[in-house]
Amino acid sequence: MKLRVGPSGVHFFDRTTGLNILLDEVRLDRPHWSPAPRQVSIALTNVCDLKCPYCYAPKNVDALDFSRLLDWITELDEGGCLGVGFGGGEPTLYHRFAELCSRVSHQTRLAVTFTTHGHGLDEGLLRDLRDTVHFVRVSVDGFGRTYERLRGRPFAAICRQLEMVRSLAPFGMNYVVNALTVGDLDSVAALATEAGAVEFLLLPQRPVAGLRGIDSETRQKLATWVARYQGNVRLAVSETDAHGFRFCDPFADEAGLSSYAHIDASGSLRRSSYDSVGVGIGGSGVMRALEVLRNHCEDGVS
Ligand code: SF4
Repeated sequence: MKLRVGPSGVHFFDRTTGLNILLDEVRLDRPHWSPAPRQVSIALTNVCDLKCPYCYAPKNVDALDFSRLLDWITELDEGGCLGVGFGGGEPTLYHRFAELCSRVSHQTRLAVTFTTHGHGLDEGLLRDLRDTVHFVRVSVDGFGRTYERLRGRPFAAICRQLEMVRSLAPFGMNYVVNALTVGDLDSVAALATEAGAVEFLLLPQRPVAGLRGIDSETRQKLATWVARYQGNVRLAVSETDAHGFRFCDPFADEAGLSSYAHIDASGSLRRSSYDSVGVGIGGSGVMRALEVLRNHCEDGVS
């Protein structure tokens, strides 16, 4: 198990089983805290073959340099980070994606996860990724025709792909909630159960260029749905979207950059993929960039 020390206590994490044990009665002083964020998402490339209307990835072909990225990930591992989540763009289109997962899995103690639209997985990639990935997130926004309208791919195809994902690693489903998709929550939660997902991550739509974020009526419908939910698949919501929902957060004292950071495909470190402030990482390394970004943060939480 990997050990991490933070303001919420002493945290043990097993990347193979996903088991977390937090000794919150053991509180050590700040100099003992692990300096890296608990989780870091990394946009490997901005390239994607879909055109979802609410996509926030910049429309360019930026991609991270492989060896520099491995150096940054090693630093994060040594700094007490517990897991990296690869995304994009579409991470399976990154030129050395399977090799990256393998190297990170074998050379660090980090959990390796990735978020995908799911349509690029085939038997060959599955074989290359076997035993190198600890969790997969598949984006499934809406059921049937709603999904097809938003993602531009057949719904039957993504349902087939879920079987493939299930054979690779434990997986969750990501769901962008907006006025079009909110009515399909029951159907997709049922699909998540049937397909064997272990988590259903709700992502209220964020404003992106030319498109508004989730409206207040839809947000209220979502809150009502969450309050009534009795399914077996665990619900989750990102930290930045959690206000207004009754979620359990055992790491409430470990917020901001202690909890999470994002590296975009141009090599900048940000508080989240939506944040406008970024610090170029370059050859000085990710922990140095983290220090600079912390000094920029207004909240002082980190
Ligand atoms: S699959 Fe993801 S990265 Fe690709 S267009 Fe859709 S939201 Fe953007």
